[in-house]
Parts: sequence; structure tokens; C-alpha cells
Amino acid sequence: MKPSSAPSDLIPRFQAALGARHVLSEPADQAPYLAEPRDLWHGKAAAVLRPGSVDEVATVLQIAAETQTPVVPQGGNTGLVGGQTPDGTGREVVLSLERLNRIRDLDRQGNTMLAEAGVILADAQRAADDADRLFPLSLAAEGSCRIGGNLATNAGGTAMLAYGNARDMVLGLEVVLADGRVWNGLRALRKDNTGYDLKHLFIGSEGTLGIITAAVLKLFPKPRERVTAFIGVPHPAAALALFDTARAQAGSQVTTCELIARIGLDFVLRHGADTRDPLTEPHPYYVLLELSSPLSDAGLRAVMERILMGAHDSGVAADAVLAESLAQQAQFWRLRELLPEVQSPEGGSIKHDVSVPLARIPDFIARASEAALRVVPGCRPLPFGHIGDGNVHFNVSQPEGADAAQFLARWEDMAAAVHEVALKLGGSISAEHGIGRLKRPLMEQIKDPVELGLMRDLKQMLDPQGLLNPGKLI
Ligand code: FAD
Ligand code: ZN
Repeated sequence: MKPSSAPSDLIPRFQAALGARHVLSEPADQAPYLAEPRDLWHGKAAAVLRPGSVDEVATVLQIAAETQTPVVPQGGNTGLVGGQTPDGTGREVVLSLERLNRIRDLDRQGNTMLAEAGVILADAQRAADDADRLFPLSLAAEGSCRIGGNLATNAGGTAMLAYGNARDMVLGLEVVLADGRVWNGLRALRKDNTGYDLKHLFIGSEGTLGIITAAVLKLFPKPRERVTAFIGVPHPAAALALFDTARAQAGSQVTTCELIARIGLDFVLRHGADTRDPLTEPHPYYVLLELSSPLSDAGLRAVMERILMGAHDSGVAADAVLAESLAQQAQFWRLRELLPEVQSPEGGSIKHDVSVPLARIPDFIARASEAALRVVPGCRPLPFGHIGDGNVHFNVSQPEGADAAQFLARWEDMAAAVHEVALKLGGSISAEHGIGRLKRPLMEQIKDPVELGLMRDLKQMLDPQGLLNPGKLI
């Protein structure tokens, strides 16, 4: 049984542990932590806690365990499924990791970086760059999301194709458990076959099994040559054929292959400052294709030209332009990176993050578009995303001039229709954003019962009181 209100000495105990200034209880101070930027999710909190060390995190969890206080971990608050937001009861505390923001170590020879959970992703990238290395995790929220959040959600992003998702970039973890014990798993070993690989339990667990406080991250050689092309294609199948050709000719040098539907580019050109269409004619779809290599004389330009020439001759690519400068490269990337934000000026948008086996992408886009239009006639599907990973962000904008609230009220029906298509094609309803609050009701439907049972057993073992991010994921 959980007490219905917080014990009266709760706040003083947190204040004694962290210092009064790091226990936020005023509404104005709490506000930025209680809603996410799109304001789809918001809640209340007994306090927002900002510990400054691993020991302080451990103390917070001990107090929480003793007082049966639910804890909602939060990193950069950029998550898209409501996982980092407290519920409406006011009983939960938000545990912000933002003050744990040190890079404790960077080992150039070992190609590792030991970063705390609160390090902003862009700062981790910069630290690697300063050491002449690459930390490849990259997503449009990188200026505010934090390493702990990236690992807790097993983030994907635009470099997944070449480097894997967040999970693949981790060698070791430090985790504070629900009872306040600290697991020091900060090993920097590439090979270590000494039993269960526990770090992978916590990565992707969305704060429901433990609090990640630090991680040993893998670094990679820095790319010395990078060639970027913006390519107009007639349909998604052509984009896929282009990817196939690129992989056949450039192998692991293909580091990005992103798909953009024309309506996405229209939105970007309409709402994004200083943007222009790189191609002279409009095309139904576009591919942002990038090759990179740690060699400065890899001759990637010639490789890219060969790929594009072949694609043009076989009718796969209608038109293409190669970035001639770093500035133009950045312009092409901006067209892709602006996509998440240019949908809001167009009104309500219902978002889906699905993956399907690569070959089914064209089928998925066609069938999901039909399904969406059946749910809300006149709606505007905007498929984009990491086509090389089989990951489509199938976002649907409201019909022009429609009422946003009325459109958003159809979220569940729309999601059910789109998810049904993805599942029928052997796909997943969450490729990279996670489950959080948004998709938790779907877990029964999508998970094998044995798998779900094992997940519940693990949760029970690691968090027997159910205090870590309750109501999320499981
Ligand atoms: P938060 O939002 O603060 O938290 C996310 C989840 O992790 C919550 O459940 C929270 O409780 C938990 N959590 C946070 N920190 C910890 C911790 N230290 N220990 C335990 N649990 C913790 N995601 C992708 O995968 N790929 C993309 O390409 C991508 N693009 C995006 C673009 C935009 C514009 C935006 C706004 C978001 C995008 N996202 C993307 C989603 C989001 O940025 C990622 O999920 C990111 O990894 C979340 O990091 P965060 O620090 O903001 O975590
Ligand atoms: Zn994405």
C-alpha cells in the first residue's frame, strides 16, 4: 500500500541531503520540469530534486524507498513519449540528472569517454571532437538531450546506420538501484564474457529499473572526408533501391540515408528561416545520402558520383545535387533536422515512430497513408526518417484549416490504424522513441506473453516497491 500523500518530513529530508537550493518546490521553479516542450504531457511533483553527485542520487533513492516516494528520472526533457514527466497526483518527485554533467575521463588510446548522465549530447560530441575522435550518436535534440536520457531510451538518430544505436556505443555503466545501492559497472573493456551483461538491462529501460549516473562510451576515428548528396526520387521504392546501390558500392562508408516526403520539404521551406530547395524541380520524395571515411583521401566524391550516375541511368534518381562546401552540407542537413519542428505551425500532428523490415518500407508508407486517410479524410501524412534502418517517422498533419483539438482527439484511432499496418508487415510500433506513457497501453497487444512476463519479473526484482518511474513502459 502506498501512502496517499507525501510524509511531512519528506522535503526537509531531501533538503538536508541535497541542500535547500537543489530541492525545488516553488511552482515557477518546477514548471520547466513538469511539462515537455510540446506540452502533450504535464504533471505535478512533490519536489524537483537536483543531486550533484552519485552519492546524493543514492541518498535520494534511499529516502524514496523508506518513504515509498515514486521517482521520475529526467535528463534533458526531450523525450517524445511522456516518460520523463510526473503524473498528476503531486506525490512523485522528479529526479533531474542535469548537475551530474562532468566528463570524468577521456582515454584517447582506449577510445573511450567516461561521461556522467547529465552531460548534454552535443557537449559529449564536442569533447570527443576536441580529442580528435568521434562520438557518433546524433539526433535533432542533441543540443538539449543528455547522455543518461539517451541511454535510458536507447536513442537511435541519424548515425545509427554506421554506428548502431545508443546501446552499441556503451562499454560500461554506473547505476543507482531502487534501494540506493550503487552498481559500479564502469568497465572500459571491449571483451568481457563474465556472465550476464547487466548494462543492457538498464539501457532502454526508460528509468524503470535504475538511475543511470555515468557511462563509459565508445569513441571512433573522426571522419576526414564527408560527401553529402540531396537526391530527388519518384517514390519510396526508388529511395530503397538507391540505398541498396549505395551500400553495394560504398559499404560501411554509407553513414546516413534519410528519407523526406515532399510535403515535409514544403513545410520546411514554408516555416524554416533561410531554407531553399536545393533542386530546381519538385520531386515526390528526397534522400539525404552521406558517405564518410576516416581517410582524408578516400575518394568519396568519385564513389558518390558513380552511385548517382547509376541511380540516374536506372531511373531511381530523378535529380541530385552534391554539397560543394561545408556550408552547403549544413544546409542539406538543416532541411532534414528542421522536420520535427516545422509540423507544429501546420496545426495538430499525430506522430508515429515505426520500423518495418527494409523491403516493406514502400508497402508500409502506401498502406499507412491509405489507413490514415480513412480515419481522417483530408489529413496530410508526412513520412520521413531513417530509411536505412527501416525506421519511418510516420507523422500525420491535420487537414488544412481543420480544428487542431478535434484532429488530435483522433490520436488513438489514427495510431491504431497505422500501428496495425506496421505490425502486419512484421514491424515495431516504437523504433527509437520508446514506450513511456504514450504507448504503455499497447504492450499487452504487441509483446509475446512470455517476454512480457519476464519483463515484469525483472521489474519486480529490481524495484519491488514499484517506485521507479511508475506508469511508464510496463
Ligand atoms: P528525457 O526526455 O529527460 O527522458 C527520457 C526517458 O529516460 C524518461 O523515461 C526518463 O525517465 C528516462 N531517463 C532520463 N535520464 C535518465 C537516467 N539518468 N537514468 C534513468 N532513466 C533516465 N530520439 C531518437 O531516438 N532518435 C531521434 O532521431 C530523435 N530525434 C528527436 C528530435 C527532436 C526534435 C526531439 C524533441 C526528440 C527527438 N528524439 C529522438 C527523442 C529524444 O530526444 C530522445 O529520446 C533522447 O534520447 C531523450 O534524452 P533526454 O535526456 O531528453 O531524456
Ligand atoms: Zn528519428
